[in-house]
Amino acid sequence: MSGSDTTVLAISLQKGGVGKTTTAINLGAALAELGFRTLIIDLDPQGNASSGLGVNIPEDAPTIAEVLRREETLEAIVEPTAEKNLFVAPAPKGQQLAEVEAQLVAEMFPQPRLKDAIDACREDWDYILLDCPPTLGRLTVNAFMAADAIFAPVQCQYFALEGLRDLSDVVKQVRQALNPNLEIAHYLLTMAKAAENLSQDVENELREAFGDKVFKNVIPYNVKLAEAPSMEMSVLKHASTSKGAKAYRSVAKELSHGRTPKAR
Ligand code: ADP
Ligand code: MG
Repeated sequence: MSGSDTTVLAISLQKGGVGKTTTAINLGAALAELGFRTLIIDLDPQGNASSGLGVNIPEDAPTIAEVLRREETLEAIVEPTAEKNLFVAPAPKGQQLAEVEAQLVAEMFPQPRLKDAIDACREDWDYILLDCPPTLGRLTVNAFMAADAIFAPVQCQYFALEGLRDLSDVVKQVRQALNPNLEIAHYLLTMAKAAENLSQDVENELREAFGDKVFKNVIPYNVKLAEAPSMEMSVLKHASTSKGAKAYRSVAKELSHGRTPKAR
């Protein structure tokens, strides 16, 4: 971790539908509920983290796209949510973020655009969660340059660990060239079905491979988690006593164990 008591986590895995955005929203909401001032940065062109928390900005409002172009500060684009202590740096609607990514590819050497933007306001936050796209392109590389660590959600299904191998190869490259301290610090099992042997097999394999880096708490498959985005709120607000809400609260406690929100 870096010197300040702000933690920047890149929630990443180069596969869609594993629970990245669900984790960004609900872990973010659970950290916020514990009193931690939390910012979710939406780096996915699909913008699901923004819309899932009811952040619907006007068409011409600046977004993370302008921040990556170094046209706006992060502070200027941050939006509050209906949940206390929880804020979102929204992604643009439409193709804009994909266009920015195409521009970034033209850089010979990736520039720390997101890192610089975060560094300018880092002290304002306890946690910054980066909701990454399901690819290992330049948006994700920007996230990896800015992050203290990677947080990998692992869906309880076949081939779950293969995706992790690709991710760890990229992390090695980024570490050598761009961010020497980067590591996959956290693994979270998601969409676990209690009745299925498969979920248990994936869990055993993951714990064997990564030990203490795997959260003790597992996120169950819970329909309330899938419903919440259409209600434009976290599951903590949508269904406060659901298994999904309880699980993300428990993970937030594990993650922040021994830490208190910064005095403000
Ligand atoms: P990613 O961001 O990795 O693509 P999402 O978080 O968007 O994945 O999740 C993919 C889909 O699965 C979404 O429709 C989401 O609502 C649903 N989902 C995610 N986690 C759970 C869960 N624990 N239980 C039930 N549905 C889930
Ligand atoms: Mg997503």
